[in-house]
Amino acid sequence: MTSARAHPVDALLAWCRPVSTVRFVDDARAEAFERLGIRTVGDLIHHYPFRYLDLTRTPSLRDVSPGEDATVVGRVHAIKVKKPRPRLTIVEVALVDGTGVVLGVWFNQPYMAQRFVEGETVAFAGRVEMEYGFKQIKNPYVEKLGADDDPADVGRILPAHRATEGLTTNWIRRLVATALEDTGRIPDFLPVGIRIARDLYSLSSALRAIHFPATFEEQAAARRRLAYDELFVLQLGMALRRHKAVMERPGVGHTINGPHLSALRSSIPYDLTGDQVAAVDEILHDVSREEPMNRMLLGDVGTGKTVVAAHALCAAVDSGAQAAMMAPTEVLATQYADKVGPLLDEAGVSWALLTGSAGAADRRDMLARLADGAIGVMFGTHALLESEVEFKRLTLAIVDEQHRFGVEQRLALRAKGAAADLLVMTATPIPRSLALTLYGDLAVSYLRERPPSVSTTRVTRVADRRHRGEAYEAVRAAAAAGNQAYVVCPLVEESEAAQARAAVDEADRLATKVFPDLSVGLLTGRMRPAEKADVMRRFRSGELHVLVTTTVVEVGVDVPNATVMIVEDAERFGLAQLHQLRGRVGRGEHPAEVILFADPKTEEGRARMEAIVSTDDGFELAEYDLRLRGEGQILGERQHGMPELRLASLAEDADLLEKARQDARELVRNDPHLEAPEHGLLPLELERRFASAWTWVSSG
Ligand code: ADP
Ligand code: MG
Repeated sequence: MTSARAHPVDALLAWCRPVSTVRFVDDARAEAFERLGIRTVGDLIHHYPFRYLDLTRTPSLRDVSPGEDATVVGRVHAIKVKKPRPRLTIVEVALVDGTGVVLGVWFNQPYMAQRFVEGETVAFAGRVEMEYGFKQIKNPYVEKLGADDDPADVGRILPAHRATEGLTTNWIRRLVATALEDTGRIPDFLPVGIRIARDLYSLSSALRAIHFPATFEEQAAARRRLAYDELFVLQLGMALRRHKAVMERPGVGHTINGPHLSALRSSIPYDLTGDQVAAVDEILHDVSREEPMNRMLLGDVGTGKTVVAAHALCAAVDSGAQAAMMAPTEVLATQYADKVGPLLDEAGVSWALLTGSAGAADRRDMLARLADGAIGVMFGTHALLESEVEFKRLTLAIVDEQHRFGVEQRLALRAKGAAADLLVMTATPIPRSLALTLYGDLAVSYLRERPPSVSTTRVTRVADRRHRGEAYEAVRAAAAAGNQAYVVCPLVEESEAAQARAAVDEADRLATKVFPDLSVGLLTGRMRPAEKADVMRRFRSGELHVLVTTTVVEVGVDVPNATVMIVEDAERFGLAQLHQLRGRVGRGEHPAEVILFADPKTEEGRARMEAIVSTDDGFELAEYDLRLRGEGQILGERQHGMPELRLASLAEDADLLEKARQDARELVRNDPHLEAPEHGLLPLELERRFASAWTWVSSG
């Protein structure tokens, strides 16, 4: 037992002891815990229940009604195994209590029959249904309450923890209780001022109540505190990182009323949308200040991010400095040069494009002009990060599609110079709560509106593979009207090579069997850059009618004349990816059609197809995705080493997230080095939660 007067750090260190130091945890149990990812006492205490059985007021079985999510208690009366047809086994366990009967039902789990003994008292939890005149629960959660008529657990709320072979829920419950008892009072890392202001439980109370709540109100309050912690520590890490970045970089106050910028403004042939005007203002305001810019420009494909970014490029050159714009692929980098280059020409800004495929002589010449400042704006891929690439005075870095670059890479580009200002562009629309969590250290400018010229109609539909003919007719019609079509092949076995092979075969099949009268091209990630560029040029010019491709076209490919897209095996793609893909069509003045061949086998797959058909708005779709998949999966894909969110839900706790963010930012503003005594435990907590990721927070 830790005495109440022990130094708080001792109590925290107690959490780091192996779980085998908890009473009753022998080697076999320690090994079973390992399978659950539980190694330390702290891990065990943070192994929260995944559900609770409400045994405080178990209804008489007569009063249980179909449709409710209930916990029922009764004696096992009969255990039946039925075999209505070959390969179907049904186990039925009847619970009785003198007032009625409820059946627990399992399909094709014959061993369930062995789990029960007639006469024992058992709780079932789950959704009650009415079938053949009987109330039943399919696959109920089962809790054995013993042989007594009046078991000890009745009257309590019983937590159920995720269990594993060799370690039952019952045992885990006991071991968590033991660990809590041994740990004694748990020191609270959260400053008391925040705790009071936000009306949160102390850490000790919260941890006890999340495992063993006396009431569901208590459980909810405990959840709120622990969810707050997850969000707060995450935001604190981000705020510290941001503060550090700001402090370490000498700021550059760019001029924003120079000649290049004003030439750019007057050469743009259309009016900016309201969102674009606002974003330009925010970005120019940032670059004009001494404090380094750390901003994200977030807008769906076609919302006109490029022209917004061009303003910042001109401001850098107006300030006698240089800017770099980095894209994740060669196709994209080339496209930027094609799109922004002419705007820069009009503004009198010299620019160049550096990719991996530049010839040696060109490259040498380009690098020389970059080093002596003759080039104002450099477009490129990660080739820009190589050490021979030296700028005379780089003060602005624009990075596109940031989740494809690691945090290290975006910082590496900025480190190329006194590149105080960083603008990250992404076409992956994400809900605000997710943006704050992933990129909490960035300010965000949103482009939601589409420019009038780009807002053509785009229809997405799901089609049956057996009706390919109709889809191919759409391709033919597009070609006849002078437009083009994409056919996208999915990733095969998660392997780019296999995907490329499939695309080669598909291109061959389409060219010879389906569209012998049209010209069919192929674009895969495996092709050499020069080949890719050539295919893209031929597709853009209309020489190719059909482009068979893979997910390489997902980002940034811009051929306004393409109006039809067919996606094979669409159910294999995520929502964001499908949306990104369909962004390739409907970019010009012609209405576009997206045909998804899909045969979803799962509930989630069907829901995804429904969602993508139901809305064309990326933000709406992103909210949908967040709710459909939960943030765990999304965060996991995006950023390794992010602190885990076990209780907090970005879809449900947006409010709590805003509070946690405010508190974290204020704390860092007042005490950026966490020196105040009441902040003494925060570094440990950061370290614990960020784990390996802490290095990027503290050294980024
Ligand atoms: P994004 O990069 O966000 O996908 P782009 O910057 O490529 O979008 O813009 C899409 C197209 O819309 C481009 O052809 C661009 O010239 C055009 N565009 C951008 N802003 C406007 C506007 N305000 N009015 C009309 N056309 C615009
Ligand atoms: Mg600045």
